[in-house]
Amino acid sequence: MSTTSTTHKQKVLADVPTGLLIGGNWREGERGQLTVEDPSTGEGLIEVANASVSDAEAALDAAVEAGPVWAEHPPRERGEILRRAFEAIVSRSDDLALLMTLEMGKPLQESRAEITYGAEFLRWFSEEAVRIDGRYSLAPNGQGRLLTMRQPVGPCLLITPWNFPLAMGTRKIGPAIAAGCTMVVKPAQQTPLSMLMLAKILQEAGLPDGVLNLITARSSSETMAPLIADPRLRKLSFTGSTEVGRTLMKQASDGLLRLSMELGGNAPFIVFEDADLDAAVQGAVIAKMRNIGEACTAANRFHIATPVAAQFAERLAERLGSMKVGRGTEPGVEVGPLIDGAQRDKVAELVDDALGKGARALVGGRARDGAGYFFDPTVLTDVPDDARLLEEEIFGPVAPVKRFADEDEAVAAANDTEYGLVAYVYTRDVKRALRVAEQLETGMVGLNQGMVSNPAAPFGGIKQSGFGREGGVEGIGEYLETKYVAVNMD
Ligand code: NAP
Repeated sequence: MSTTSTTHKQKVLADVPTGLLIGGNWREGERGQLTVEDPSTGEGLIEVANASVSDAEAALDAAVEAGPVWAEHPPRERGEILRRAFEAIVSRSDDLALLMTLEMGKPLQESRAEITYGAEFLRWFSEEAVRIDGRYSLAPNGQGRLLTMRQPVGPCLLITPWNFPLAMGTRKIGPAIAAGCTMVVKPAQQTPLSMLMLAKILQEAGLPDGVLNLITARSSSETMAPLIADPRLRKLSFTGSTEVGRTLMKQASDGLLRLSMELGGNAPFIVFEDADLDAAVQGAVIAKMRNIGEACTAANRFHIATPVAAQFAERLAERLGSMKVGRGTEPGVEVGPLIDGAQRDKVAELVDDALGKGARALVGGRARDGAGYFFDPTVLTDVPDDARLLEEEIFGPVAPVKRFADEDEAVAAANDTEYGLVAYVYTRDVKRALRVAEQLETGMVGLNQGMVSNPAAPFGGIKQSGFGREGGVEGIGEYLETKYVAVNMD
């Protein structure tokens, strides 16, 4: 029996504005509509506007027009708008969680967790809005004065992926609003509903017209390219795949746009023989299975010290094998469907490649037949070095386990990837923990914990995982320029 009544589902869908938000008005797209699907059934849920290039340009026009007034809006009031939106999201979290589960597939409890996480960015940046400061100092020769001030970057384009439909938006929108920037937001076409609701909530919280404009479109490349080429745009913040990130960076190079790039990952999860194995298995379940494995921070490879590797793999297989797979709205479900057929087929292909090269499945290993895009939680051992899933982002509930002999080998294996977003390390030895954390080529490290995301911390990667930081005191800096004024005191 489903916990979600048809009436509740109809109510949350009826609440969603389905148009484009341009200059404070919701309007239809010039290219008709696009269908948002429920990945647990493959059936259409609702239609939203499909923008044309001129719709997207109108959204940028509105952001440009609203820019100067918004940049001068009192920081306290900018913060209070964010604070009201934070409270509205929290008070509506049941409805927003259901909406997110319907469009993205994850279990309701995980959607609730994302609602909390996503809302916290608004609270965090509501507090940061009033802390934008500068410096005043005596020049080293004692004559002039050096004044630095920080000002909003200007109109921004914010492009987000489908895997965290709300939080990937709030961690850009929160600091942009706090900094005094206006923006055009483009959510992924597979999951635009949470972002549409967020835009409506921000409007209700008092965000002035034109500060946030929202475009949904079937052809993202066609609609976004003219905006990226427009000299009035000052910044592009992108979260998504490395491949698309590279393309956008090339497009942004003509205009020398300020960029933030939150791209793909291939996180190693390292367990030393001195680790608390119970904690490591528990952390592994979180690092692997959060968001059905469809997280840029998902543990992609498990590197386990040889003496504990077999035990770790068996215990992980036991945990993953007992997880309930099904529609995210059903009671007790811990693993929802993958986002679409292409993603399910890609995960199956990576698993088949590993099995074909000699890996063994301790549990799982295959996609489920029937409606929806389900894949069984899978643990693989004896994974050969040339298996593709050690190199590529899996984005599914599959855990390959490798062994290592010593610390140097573990670090070398962990760093043997073009990506550099996050790594997880389990050990009881503090010196080793710090030594390894220093050597890992990643923007973030989870020490004895399987999750690093926190709105008060700087989230981001190095190498092919991108650059720029979201959250923390660093987050607002992505939306501010530094201006230096040389003051003559003669
Ligand atoms: P994606 O295919 O790169 O798409 C991301 C966004 O870019 C979507 O809104 C997409 O629109 C848009 N887009 C695609 N091609 C574009 C183009 N040529 N011009 C302008 N916009 C374009 O990524 P995804 O499949 O949605 O998300 C999964 C990826 O995101 C994974 O690699 C994951 O690791 C990464 N990710 C990274 C982080 C991080 O913080 N580092 C966080 C979450 C996810 P459409 O939907 O219309 O295609």
